[in-house]
Amino acid sequence: MEGIEIPTDVVARRIEALGRVGLLPEGGLYRGVYTPEWAEARAVVADWGRSAGLEVREDAVGNLWLRLPGSEPGPAIVTGSHIDTVRNGGKYDGALGIIAGLTAVEALRARFGRPKRTIEVLATCEEDGARFRSRLWGSRAILGIIGPDEPDAIVDAAGVSIGEAMRQMGYDPARIPEARRADIGAFIELHIEQGPVLQASDHQVGIVTVVTGLTMAVAEVTGRADHAGTTPMDARRDALVGAARMILAVRRAALAAGRPAVATVGRVEVWPGGSNVVPERVRFTVDIRHTAGAELRRLQDRVERACRRVAWNCGLDLDFKVVSSTPPTPLDPALRRLLVDLAGQLGLKFLEMPSGAGHDAAWLGRKFPAALIFVPSQEGRSHSPREYTPVDKIIPGITLLAAALHRLAY
Ligand SMILES: [Zn+2]
Repeated sequence: MEGIEIPTDVVARRIEALGRVGLLPEGGLYRGVYTPEWAEARAVVADWGRSAGLEVREDAVGNLWLRLPGSEPGPAIVTGSHIDTVRNGGKYDGALGIIAGLTAVEALRARFGRPKRTIEVLATCEEDGARFRSRLWGSRAILGIIGPDEPDAIVDAAGVSIGEAMRQMGYDPARIPEARRADIGAFIELHIEQGPVLQASDHQVGIVTVVTGLTMAVAEVTGRADHAGTTPMDARRDALVGAARMILAVRRAALAAGRPAVATVGRVEVWPGGSNVVPERVRFTVDIRHTAGAELRRLQDRVERACRRVAWNCGLDLDFKVVSSTPPTPLDPALRRLLVDLAGQLGLKFLEMPSGAGHDAAWLGRKFPAALIFVPSQEGRSHSPREYTPVDKIIPGITLLAAALHRLAY
């Protein structure tokens, strides 16, 4: 890996160029899947690929593949990330992984010529679920696990189905199965950390061990609506007071479990919602995460039991439902070892760490060997226009990515 240079100016220019596509007046980005801004961003990346002399193609759902053919047959070595953004998002989430992959591949080819194994840079069409609750539409299409009913069943806030949105962009939902691939030898994603750990501990790169498991539950608390002026305090069944105590209990359960356990109540709805009415019904979400499956289930049980205790003590009814549960996904051990070895050889200060957020690598890792490299996020900010990583803090991660691609493909 002597002599490989990742050009800082090219990386900086590309971040700025993609960071202008989908810019909102408030200053953040929005590139929901199958919107004109999304298509524009893909066109920018496709242009870069063609200028670099790579073979550019899109698949049946709009994943973009930039291909450097190898001299020998065999499954491709793939790198990349997602092109879509959340609403009011930043320039680095997703986009950086595509830019890193492309820049690394160009540098490798300039230095070493044609690889033995084919290398592909992948821009997945959708990961962040900002427009549709589509849950990693791009990666799931590659895995071939999108259900036949999903194109019609999944709708955006305006009532447009994802199938209809595809048709408006020239894709045929009936052809989704054609996006499936079986010939991927490895997938390596570079992503911003989206948390404060690397910056705070002064590490240059993170090598991810496991992507956290996530249980999403919905609790519905029912009491009795009464007049806020005439009902004595000791005669109330106030659903919101109960829910407040439950929310504190959720926090206590996660704190007691210790790091990396986290539990968050992010959404609360109150009925009837009058300022002079004792609340009758409250619904709130609970997002519970842990990197170990058994611990995740234990924490989920603790949270539910704690909420039931509060309901019993307050004379309230509680309906607690788990709506989805994704187990933790360990990244490929051999690829992790390779990254650790290479980071050591390159003299990088690296940290092996879990990921608290889901990523394309976690899903593609269900079928293919996958790895995930983090670069620091300034102040841990993400999903915000304040998302930022200085380019000199990005280069070590891309250098590590290039070294890994070199080892796997040359
Ligand atoms: Zn992302």
